[in-house]
Amino acid sequence: MADAPITQDVMTIPRKLPDGPQNLVGLTRAAMRDALIAAGTPEKQAKMRVGQIWQWIYQWGVRDFEAMTNLSKAYRAELAEKFVIEVPEVVTRQVSTDGTRKYLVRIAGGHEVEVVYIPETDRGTLCISSQVGCTLTCSFCHTGTQKLVRNLTPAEIIGQVMVARDDLGEWPEQGAPKNEVRLLSNIVLMGMGEPLYNFEGVRDAMKIAMDPEGIQLSRRRITLSTSGVVPEIARTAQEIGCQLAVSFHATTDEVRDKLVPINKRWNIEALLDALRAYPKASNSERITFEYVMLKGVNDTDEDARRLVKLIEGIPAKINLIPFNEWPGAPYERSSNNRIRAFADIIYKAGYATPIRTPRGEDIMAACGQLKSATERARKSRKQIEAELGR
Ligand code: SF4
Repeated sequence: MADAPITQDVMTIPRKLPDGPQNLVGLTRAAMRDALIAAGTPEKQAKMRVGQIWQWIYQWGVRDFEAMTNLSKAYRAELAEKFVIEVPEVVTRQVSTDGTRKYLVRIAGGHEVEVVYIPETDRGTLCISSQVGCTLTCSFCHTGTQKLVRNLTPAEIIGQVMVARDDLGEWPEQGAPKNEVRLLSNIVLMGMGEPLYNFEGVRDAMKIAMDPEGIQLSRRRITLSTSGVVPEIARTAQEIGCQLAVSFHATTDEVRDKLVPINKRWNIEALLDALRAYPKASNSERITFEYVMLKGVNDTDEDARRLVKLIEGIPAKINLIPFNEWPGAPYERSSNNRIRAFADIIYKAGYATPIRTPRGEDIMAACGQLKSATERARKSRKQIEAELGR
């Protein structure tokens, strides 16, 4: 396949800038312990120090060592000399009329990624990015027109959660009773990039999000969406343990090759085999099949019946996504009647088929609309249309 996936190592900047203080954000507990010992913390104290610093950073949202009052003044000064607690800078913050918030955040190298917060009555979901641009070129996705610049580091991934909590004022007061109602209760890895092409970065960041002494998000409230990087699917269950969603979007290889080009590498059959074997899938933890509704492309009744046949035996739910237009997009959204008729066929076959309500369209925050100016458009409308044989 022409745009063969790029391995992570090439595209990730090192965590320790050679001549600067080290950022503690994004380090696993083991890596933080090693860093503290390397900086002079006595080995037998290191585990305890990690516990203390971890809580300040991820439970209380503290970014200043001076405020870490259960550490001696001398040790705080030592830490401040050798380490920093840095999160991405918020460049712009837009709030939609429907309450959706979109943040453009700047990371090392001056690159920018988008993060979207979607408030709902019973939850608050943060849609985070894992790459600047994307390794892949799904033709319905705005990010897919943005060339991959690099993978995000764990600090830049968990940092998106931290800046959103800052904006929502969600860091608890020390000593205050635990607030059971969380404004940011769910994370979806559905922003910019293919998370499974940044496996280690995403894994380490989600482990931090799930850590019981920090942000404490349950693995059942974290959903990773992949376009179908088959070799990494089982590993997601083993090493992250979160919920899985798959960008499915078509019921024939011919159409999926065009919509989700990674299908040329691992086709529908290979993908479904991996999902059937997904260790975490069960009736209470169903795999979400994401299906963007594109007028005249993948929305016939026959497509709906074929989809039901294909996913037989997989604990699944189907999320229908009315296509969200973006400048230069070569598709149109299916009509509401068509989407409802499609949903009806799947629902009658016994599957929950929620139709995703487009959120934040007025600020280009809806699914598939994310793109940062970090890189020029990769493919023009003419090129995408030529590829579609139009
Ligand atoms: S849908 Fe996901 S994998 Fe495909 S181009 Fe967009 S961000 Fe990348």
